[in-house]
Amino acid sequence: MMRDHTDILIIGAGLAGIGTACHMVTKLPGLSLQIVEMREHMGGTWDLFRYPGIRSDSNMHVYGYEFRPWVDDKSISPGEHILDYIKATARDYNLTDKTSFGQRVMSADFSTQTALWTVTLRGAGGEDRRVTCRWLQSCTGYYNYGAGYRPDFAHEEDFGGQIIHPQDWPQDLDYQGKRVVVIGSGATAVTLVPSLAEQGAGHVTMLQRSQSYIFPDKDYDPLAQKLMKILPEKWAYALIRKKNIFLERYKIGRALKYPVQTRALFEAKAAERLPDDFDIVKHLRPSYPPATQRICFSPNGDLFTQITAGRASIETGHIKRFTQTGIVLTDGTVLKADIIVTATGLNIVMLGEATLSVDGKTVNLPDHYIYKGCMLSNVPNMALSSGTLTASYTLRVELQARYVCNVLKTMLKSGADYAVPALSAAAQAGMPRLPFMGEFNSGYILRAIDTSPRQGDKDPWINHQTYIENKVQLLGPVSDDVLSFKSVVPRSEHNAV
Ligand SMILES: Cc1cc2nc3c(=O)[nH]c(=O)nc-3n(C[C@H](O)[C@H](O)[C@H](O)COP(=O)(O)OP(=O)(O)OC[C@H]3O[C@@H](n4cnc5c(N)ncnc54)[C@H](O)[C@@H]3O)c2cc1C
Repeated sequence: MMRDHTDILIIGAGLAGIGTACHMVTKLPGLSLQIVEMREHMGGTWDLFRYPGIRSDSNMHVYGYEFRPWVDDKSISPGEHILDYIKATARDYNLTDKTSFGQRVMSADFSTQTALWTVTLRGAGGEDRRVTCRWLQSCTGYYNYGAGYRPDFAHEEDFGGQIIHPQDWPQDLDYQGKRVVVIGSGATAVTLVPSLAEQGAGHVTMLQRSQSYIFPDKDYDPLAQKLMKILPEKWAYALIRKKNIFLERYKIGRALKYPVQTRALFEAKAAERLPDDFDIVKHLRPSYPPATQRICFSPNGDLFTQITAGRASIETGHIKRFTQTGIVLTDGTVLKADIIVTATGLNIVMLGEATLSVDGKTVNLPDHYIYKGCMLSNVPNMALSSGTLTASYTLRVELQARYVCNVLKTMLKSGADYAVPALSAAAQAGMPRLPFMGEFNSGYILRAIDTSPRQGDKDPWINHQTYIENKVQLLGPVSDDVLSFKSVVPRSEHNAV
């Protein structure tokens, strides 16, 4: 039952919202907390995406929460196990009763007179309702739930078969024995292509405009399996997590430092598994250096196995047009298809498309700078949870949750009503307007540049992307010369945060 006022309001009951709430109810037991979720279900990404083979790309011993051991044998997990894990965590931390489903946050206005956010929620029937909170935590993920990104292709209307986007996968789709073309080369395509091939499609072609780095490796961690048998779960998990965080960072660091050798390693791993006549340079050599975009993971080399078995293939080229029976590329290649899957990505949105304002003045995100990777300049009592591109998403989300708990504790101790990363117009004018995600140039990141906040070139205004930098930035002292703690009324006159 949604109350009219709460100390902390979390938007979104996905992996981030539930994990963040667990930290908050544990570390701030005196504060009331509610979660609002626009869908009727918990789990976010792991509930929405239902395409064949949906799985994690990350190792679950790092993608799982720090406080809840991942105990499955597989370290690369099917989506439904991740969904179960999120739901079980929510149950164990009594968050299910604190979550209101079918409530979409449309807007939120902070008043510096009352130090309260007034949040407008829209119910499933279109009715609006207002609630207030002291702290607003946005855990809305980063993409539009309504529709995935899908470029227009010439003469799409001519195609006689089905066109499907992975974000909206029909559960009764019959692909048995059919020719499927999957457009895309990201994690979704690399997951879908071998899964469809394994599960009975006639032939699956991955049609890509540009190549990705694809790394084949085991979907289990032998050391984790051993340690889980001989040590208490919590100890084993903590050790495996540490090892994996270190290894993840080490590998990315080496890839960035030694791009030529890393590329050679990727190609050698692929060559071991692919037929001799497979054109690795054409299909598997990206134009960008390794680790400057997210690397796709192929569990046990499943994509390469299916290519070798002749059930899947890769085509690299540009689409000229759709036809009644498939796709024609600009070089004249014809791909016959019964089903075309547009694994062309996501539409990035910030804050779940909710609009923010402070004292009635709209917060236009590109005019604001990101503070410590999770707050916005001159926006009080609000933080957003987000992962990084080169490490497991949950790693930064949990650091951010711990940081926000520390900010709230500081407020409670000092009697302040709100905390705001203050940035004067003069200081802002002297700071470069760098893109939110820095050098990362994946298509979906570039498409979102104009609607995202900026980052600066100096701490605490840098949106760091590595775990160590995030840890230093977020778990260091809360007080600095930017975050201002303010009071609006004498402490005795109200009794919340
Ligand atoms: C298919 C897929 C696989 C992925 N695999 C990995 C992986 O292996 N490793 C990794 O590190 N990352 C991965 N990611 C990135 C992934 O999105 C995150 O890891 C993680 O699931 C995001 O969690 P989240 O809670 O921040 O967002 P989400 O899972 O998107 O959840 C956000 C929740 O907020 C709700 N919401 C949004 N807007 C509003 C609003 N205005 N009002 C109320 N509720 C709202 C949504 O309904 C949703 O329930 C993957 C992403 C996708 C799409």
